[in-house]
Amino acid sequence: MMNFKELTTQLLDWYDRNRRELPWRTETDPYRIWVSEVMLQQTRVEAVIPYYRRFLQRFPDMRALAAAEPEELLSVWQGLGYYSRARHLQQGVQEVQARYGGRMPDSREEISGLPGIGPYTAGAILSIAHNKPEPAVDGNVLRVFSRLLVIREPIDRLPVKRRIETTVREMMAGISRCGDVTQALMELGALVCVPRNPRCDSCPWQGHCAARLENAQDALPIRKAPALPRIVHVVTGLLLRDGQVLTVQRPPRGLLAGMWEFPSVESSDSPGTMADAERLLQERFRELGREITVLSAGQSLTHIFSHRQWQLRTFFCRDRAATIPGSVDAGRWLPLGRIESLNWAGPHRKIAAGLVSEMGKQIHEKGK
Ligand code: SF4
Repeated sequence: MMNFKELTTQLLDWYDRNRRELPWRTETDPYRIWVSEVMLQQTRVEAVIPYYRRFLQRFPDMRALAAAEPEELLSVWQGLGYYSRARHLQQGVQEVQARYGGRMPDSREEISGLPGIGPYTAGAILSIAHNKPEPAVDGNVLRVFSRLLVIREPIDRLPVKRRIETTVREMMAGISRCGDVTQALMELGALVCVPRNPRCDSCPWQGHCAARLENAQDALPIRKAPALPRIVHVVTGLLLRDGQVLTVQRPPRGLLAGMWEFPSVESSDSPGTMADAERLLQERFRELGREITVLSAGQSLTHIFSHRQWQLRTFFCRDRAATIPGSVDAGRWLPLGRIESLNWAGPHRKIAAGLVSEMGKQIHEKGK
């Protein structure tokens, strides 16, 4: 039988002696904790620190973030990836403004109703900002407890998560440092009970840890086999005119929402021939009011997202007619010298850079 009080005391003693100084560690403002937790999802601590500081300089409170233009939000977030996190964060603070008069609610039910806040982020805000005994259980915490308790079931199963949440709740019962328990568990998972070769000799729980006693640390946690990313073929058209290239903005929802790209078509099958690619691109460009022909193939590249993989092929195109009479002249002509001015969707930045270097080479060759 675990002695929860002892576990908590050992954990907090260890945390007091070993914790890293991180900019969000001293915060109790729910908004700032919310920002840090959203940024830390799928991103390393060292990478987050400069973004966190810059973000809060620009949007120091919920009111500032709620009023930000999407383009500005995107430019402050760009480089951190998973832009949908930023959009959800903004929608969340806008809802706090509209529904709660700008004050962050302090019940799990209300916080969980805000856009982009899942059980983990809700637990982190409630325990750290409001000092409530609410668990925040992420992959790190699941790993630590799967070893401490030797849980030989996949940790992504809901009953396992519930069991670990109950254990954390027991550890927080009747103490005044619930937020520190949350942060200490995260720190233990990040510094000591790491995925490979856990540093058990430095662990405050080495005397209790069942996995250590059984020498089973490296076999835990158990995970379900991850689903392979879905392959999506993307055919991209590069239409150039007078040192400019045609770009379009992605829809306001979904993958890479609102970011800029070259006109593209997604398909589940690879276009076998250049004629197949041309047919796809002609359809896409017609939507933009243009008749094109494909001149030649450009670069090919692969970009991996968490659940899908883009296999992207580019094609240089030529305008057959300036615009189709009566159609919309859509898209934005971007001078090649200004490619840095756009928030590019994933691999399109690389394509833009390749295009500029290719054009530079051609000008150089002509000049010889
Ligand atoms: Fe993890 Fe080792 Fe500590 Fe067990 S003793 S919780 S395996 S670091």
